[in-house]
Amino acid sequence: MTIIRRACCHGSVHFNHDNRTGPELSAALVNAGDDCDLEELLRDHAIRRPALDARSAAALRAWARRLRPVFTASSAEERCVVLNALLDDAAGRIHLTTHDGLSPHLHLVADEEDVVARVRAVMAGGLAVLTAWTGGTRLGACERARCGTVFVDTSRGGRRRYCTARCGNADAVARHRAAARR
Ligand SMILES: [Zn+2]
Ligand SMILES: [Zn+2]
Repeated sequence: MTIIRRACCHGSVHFNHDNRTGPELSAALVNAGDDCDLEELLRDHAIRRPALDARSAAALRAWARRLRPVFTASSAEERCVVLNALLDDAAGRIHLTTHDGLSPHLHLVADEEDVVARVRAVMAGGLAVLTAWTGGTRLGACERARCGTVFVDTSRGGRRRYCTARCGNADAVARHRAAARR
């Protein structure tokens, strides 16, 4: 699996796999700072017709606050409760599409819907599918205090604890210092 790291909106990891768009975009949106250009972020994740006005950008920021608990959930049950509430609000009619010459894949809302409705469905649906396929073990948040970056865990063993090796090293140093003080 090819992994490409991008500089914008730190913490996001990208894969060359269609089914990763929803989880990837979700993590990037949760990690996006206030100064992040959300339209550019959508474009980076190959979202079609990504133009955002102020109102739709605000709607996406509100949605991001609801997405964070999917990554930080402490149990599969808790993650399912959060995701079901997102699906209730975002998913419409499930149907197959072949738009833009792509191979058949599932959409949860009609293609004519506005960009907010479309990306909310992509994110809720993608997170739900990933959770069903992996038992919910592939979504997480960095354990370093005050980091808060969320991620999709693509490591072989699926035991990733930090957003980056840098955070892992910094946390190890902090724990070592705390132990030395005791
Ligand atoms: Zn599509
Ligand atoms: Zn981190």
